[in-house]
Amino acid sequence: MPVSKKTKSVSTQDEQTFCVFPVLTAESPFAQIAPPLLSWYGENARTLPWRSDPAPYRVWISEIMLQQTRVEAVLSYFMRFLAVLPDIPALAAASPELLLKLWEGLGYYSRARNLQKAAQIVCERYGGCLPASFEALRELPGFGDYTAGAVASIAFGLRVPAVDGNVLRVFARLLDAHGDVSLPQAKREAAVLALRAGPAQGMGAFNQALMDLGATVCLPNGAPQCSRCPLASLCLGLRAGTAPALPCKKAKKPRRVEERTVLAVVGGGRVLLQKRPESGLLAGLWELPNAPGFLSEQEALRLAASLGAKFPAALPLKASKHLFSHVEWHMRGFLIRAASFGALPDGAALANAPELREGYALPSAFRAYSRLLPGLLEGL
Ligand code: SF4
Repeated sequence: MPVSKKTKSVSTQDEQTFCVFPVLTAESPFAQIAPPLLSWYGENARTLPWRSDPAPYRVWISEIMLQQTRVEAVLSYFMRFLAVLPDIPALAAASPELLLKLWEGLGYYSRARNLQKAAQIVCERYGGCLPASFEALRELPGFGDYTAGAVASIAFGLRVPAVDGNVLRVFARLLDAHGDVSLPQAKREAAVLALRAGPAQGMGAFNQALMDLGATVCLPNGAPQCSRCPLASLCLGLRAGTAPALPCKKAKKPRRVEERTVLAVVGGGRVLLQKRPESGLLAGLWELPNAPGFLSEQEALRLAASLGAKFPAALPLKASKHLFSHVEWHMRGFLIRAASFGALPDGAALANAPELREGYALPSAFRAYSRLLPGLLEGL
């Protein structure tokens, strides 16, 4: 649904100006969502490892992993991460290589770096235990309002909201709100509404119930499953027939497309890797050599030679595509077989199969090419 020009601007008792969502009145059905929502959650909560043992560290790691990533994809990462780094001091002391290896394939690697920075601060300031305070959590690297609210309410039982995109969607539909939920104040308004509607005790369960409702019933992209929703009788969007078209959001800018050529340069059982710059996209990660644009075979061979490959021979690989949040890489690849390697430039390294497996985290952007490597290296 396009963004409506009819947004409201009204003061509430909190002197909060509401622009995106309507102000609640005593009769608003929204104020009654907690009992049916919690009762539904009691019977339908998803079984997740960080729920069976909601220790603060576990809740924190799960919430960071779940940002931009589906639950199903997170489960195996979560278990492996906790097995290797079972507590905050272990996370604080982990080598950057180990940390990135544990994160390999999850994407958004700044999340892993912020986890470690926050763990180091928690060890220095709080003796290795997360502080039981929304404000103190909010000051740690990687903690926005949502993550601080989720950890504070789920792990510490504090009465604070946790508003993410799922909650905005559910609220917009429940309230038949046609304001633009991508506006910065939308989350602030939704936080006030969540506190109004949430229970006096058990805000963590209320927040998780909203997350589960958004993830399993009030689905995005015009597909709410209203016939099995515990809040159907209270939902103004369902009553008005507008729910599938909500929430309203400003259209996202299309991603910028970048063409790249990726080289899998192998020889003598080793593959050539290079380190990305310490800032920008995929900062500081190892990668397969690559260059902007679609290189010809001769250009690819010259690039490989400039990186130390001796007597290289090229074989084209299939094209691939990877989506980042703002950029889209359209890639073509070459397998380059080198007879040997000369001196490597700064920031380059050679890795054999075990070293690649244990010591280097390659971003999933290169997966179409990097997954060929174990077979290539072990067959050489
Ligand atoms: Fe979402 Fe439908 Fe439930 Fe309303 S009734 S909250 S639109 S699933």
